[in-house]
Amino acid sequence: MKIHWHRRDLRPTDNCGLTEAAGSGSVLPVFVFDKAVLQHGSPPRVAYMLDALDSLRESYRDKGSDLLLARGDPRTVLSRLAETTDAEAVVWNKDYSGLARERDTEVRQALDEVDVARESYHDAICHEPGSITTNDGDPYSVFTYFGRKWLDREKETPYETPDADDLADPASHSVPDRWSTSLPTVGDLGFDEPDADLQSASTDAARDRLDEFCAGDIYRYDERRDYPADDATSRLSADLKWGTIGIRTVYAATADAMERADSDAEAESVEEFQSQLAWREFYSHVLFFNPEVVSENYKEYENGIEWRDDPEHLAAWKAGETGYPIVDAGMRQLLDEGYMHNRVRMIVASFLTKDLLIDWREGYDWFRERLVDHETANDNGGWQWAASTGTDSQPYFRIFNPMTQGERYDPDATYIKRYIPELEAVEAEQIHTWHELSATQRRRLAPEYPDPIVEHSQRREAAIEMFETARGE
Ligand code: FAD
Repeated sequence: MKIHWHRRDLRPTDNCGLTEAAGSGSVLPVFVFDKAVLQHGSPPRVAYMLDALDSLRESYRDKGSDLLLARGDPRTVLSRLAETTDAEAVVWNKDYSGLARERDTEVRQALDEVDVARESYHDAICHEPGSITTNDGDPYSVFTYFGRKWLDREKETPYETPDADDLADPASHSVPDRWSTSLPTVGDLGFDEPDADLQSASTDAARDRLDEFCAGDIYRYDERRDYPADDATSRLSADLKWGTIGIRTVYAATADAMERADSDAEAESVEEFQSQLAWREFYSHVLFFNPEVVSENYKEYENGIEWRDDPEHLAAWKAGETGYPIVDAGMRQLLDEGYMHNRVRMIVASFLTKDLLIDWREGYDWFRERLVDHETANDNGGWQWAASTGTDSQPYFRIFNPMTQGERYDPDATYIKRYIPELEAVEAEQIHTWHELSATQRRRLAPEYPDPIVEHSQRREAAIEMFETARGE
């Protein structure tokens, strides 16, 4: 019998490590609530994870098995379990972030000490770090060529789901007391209940989202993905982060959608979506080769950037009270749903770093606290892009104007009004020129909605100056 240690792969289907373990006899599925990992947790993410674990446990129970759970240090709980159950090996899928790799090395050592084998598999992304490189064998530092190669590479097909016969029943093994099949609550793990309305977390829910997307929106993705009111994106980010769906399953569905495309435009749209999957892998590779980017700029500036320390502006940004409607709508979507549309993520990140001149790390920390799909690689990549400190980042002098962004991507202010009820009765035109209205006009139109906290054109100049100083100009 082998033990499969689930981590960010909370699914029984299309799971490389689980299928490999099952192929060698029987597999006992387990999950560890690791204190060291939970200290970086947040209410929305912990709630989502518990929901996903509940559904994973149900899928095992349907097959006469169960999911064993323990709280503690994986080094000790896993090695004790492996010893007690006389397991042949502990199997897991690789996680490419720096902290996870350190933990896995330590777990390996602990298993060595009790003479239990371990196997780790490549599962979370289509192409492993180091497998797509420049002709000199170096990792790419810009996306374009990486993306091209990623699209051209053949992809694996989804892994088989283990049969009931391949799964061990924990009840027929004597397991240490630490282990049980009861799930803790969010409160048991030391977190408050989330105050956001989160999408449901399970493999079935993820599959439904994928199928629905591939039956329709994938064909207008290229054209509509930037318009937040349209909801034309897949909403698979939390599923991919927690592994409630396998990446091969997602890719295979897009390949089928490509076969069904009725025109070049539809085929290009499918490819545009596949490119986003490639971006996800690009950022995983960047993080793998540069684990320090979690807290440091990827791109060096000669004199360092002198970000401003401005707690009041930061608080207004977090609360969606900046007086810039598209920014506030995004920040409130984050509070309400633990999610934000990609175009709006770019706008709010640009606003924090280029209008409020606040360090991207403050924004990253807030996103990590509130996003249900927070993924170190993508979140970091997105923030460093917006802050002009990342791999392919936005040049420092190209600064989003939040008003024209709102006007272009939410012309009728449908998205803005969805999240800012104070602006419900205001015409889109006035919403998009909110900064130009007089204070009296603003009071008359929406007395509860704030005035702009900064003047964009002034801040734009200040941001350029800040970056020029950082560059030593
Ligand atoms: P879709 O448009 O349907 O894309 C499909 C999948 O491709 C996504 O689920 C995601 O896995 C991947 N993807 C899409 N866009 C990107 C991108 N730009 N970079 C990397 N992968 C991408 N994405 C996260 O998954 N987690 C994060 O923590 C995260 N933080 C971000 C922070 C900032 C400041 C920015 C600008 C972007 C961030 N993104 C993050 C990328 C992107 O915003 C989300 O992946 C996307 O909005 C999720 O919605 P979706 O699943 O409907 O995306």
